[in-house]
Amino acid sequence: MDCIQIKDKKFTVSIKEEDILKEVSRVADEINRDLAGKNPLFLSVLNGSFMFTADLMKRITIPCEISFVKLASYQGVSSTGAVKEVIGINEDLSGRTIVIVEDIVDTGLTMQRLLETLGTRGPKEIHIATLLVKPEKLKVDLNIEYAAMHIPNDFIVGYGLDYDGFGRNYKDIYTVVNE
Ligand code: 5GP
Repeated sequence: MDCIQIKDKKFTVSIKEEDILKEVSRVADEINRDLAGKNPLFLSVLNGSFMFTADLMKRITIPCEISFVKLASYQGVSSTGAVKEVIGINEDLSGRTIVIVEDIVDTGLTMQRLLETLGTRGPKEIHIATLLVKPEKLKVDLNIEYAAMHIPNDFIVGYGLDYDGFGRNYKDIYTVVNE
């Protein structure tokens, strides 16, 4: 399925599952190497990162924990800049090695907000793992240690990412077709 239609928009396949998984495996290898012995706590940012989180965690072989948080700042196809509250952090983060697991870093404002919020809870260190980065859109200075892929500044869906709630179920990543 090379083209899909979601509501008013057409999308064409841009990154196949096989290529995604190659990069997810590479990121997992890097984390296994770098964070061995640190019992990291992975914090997966729902909803968009659920598929990335599942594939990543299947490849993490060091002792670790995982939990899920929620935080939304995006509606339709452009970032609103408005950032909502982080919900769902029930663990004691003090002294912990945290790995934030995100779907995509666009402007970086969402990630900055997460880092600020988590930083107040006394973690030892916070690392960022993201499936995608749009480097051209980045507005803030972030140390993104674990990025599976860099992509151009186009709106994408699939592999967990949605357009108005739809499209998260596709195993490949699709880019919007501008008509
Ligand atoms: P930021 O705060 O970095 O500008 O935005 C991050 C959030 O915006 C992501 O977690 C994601 O939910 C959403 N986002 C950014 N770019 C895209 C995109 O191309 N497609 C989809 N579906 N969501 C995106």
